[in-house]
Amino acid sequence: MTDAHHLFSTYSSCVDNLKVEIADGTLSPVASKGSIHISESITLNPVLHVPNLSCNLLSISQLTKKSNCSDLSLGKTIGSAKEREGLYYFNKTDVLGQCPPTVCNYASYPKDNELLLWHKRMGHPSFQYLKHLLLSLCSNKTLLDFQCEVCELAKHHWASFPKSKYKPLIPFTLIHSGLWGPSRTPNRTHKKWFITFIDDHTRLCWVYLLTNKTEVRSIFMNFHSMIQTQFHTKIQTLRTDNGTEYF
Ligand SMILES: [Zn+2]
Repeated sequence: MTDAHHLFSTYSSCVDNLKVEIADGTLSPVASKGSIHISESITLNPVLHVPNLSCNLLSISQLTKKSNCSDLSLGKTIGSAKEREGLYYFNKTDVLGQCPPTVCNYASYPKDNELLLWHKRMGHPSFQYLKHLLLSLCSNKTLLDFQCEVCELAKHHWASFPKSKYKPLIPFTLIHSGLWGPSRTPNRTHKKWFITFIDDHTRLCWVYLLTNKTEVRSIFMNFHSMIQTQFHTKIQTLRTDNGTEYF
């Protein structure tokens, strides 16, 4: 992908309304597709002309797959680029005449994908640990380059709940309720669920076992009646997780 219109040797306007997402998250329209000669032996095709790009981007995997650029039969080098901070920079005297350095993306290098795959298969161990096991996949890499989205998210802390000013001073002002289940193994009476009612003031907890979720309504009605008849009071607030079983 490039923003430099003048580099193209063939150029056809793009009818597909293609858009690419650039680094700031916005979508940029693709103006056209074409081919670019970057050296005597390498022609890139297709190259997208994206006017909003601020540098040229080249996918190494795309290059090796689509362009017939790795001359394996002769074994000779047909191009070189220096790696700096995870990107390859072509020397501007080598290719593209006087244009700015071409930046190549190496994120889809097969060994990186394989290392990430093993990281996932083995239950997300640290990359330092993986290096001991899979040294061949880690060579020439700074392990800090690897980032696993799942690991990043798993290390996030939950934001704490704000402290509530409300303090119930008498029983049954506030009842917390939650339903749990189904358990894989039913108990001896074939129950797979339980529901709890916890009084916020006394912390007393009532637990009822259920065969089916649909019993929540009748169990709550019984609990509600029990509070009225046995304690001569009423539940003022029932707090739940808004689960549909309470509707
Ligand atoms: Zn991970």
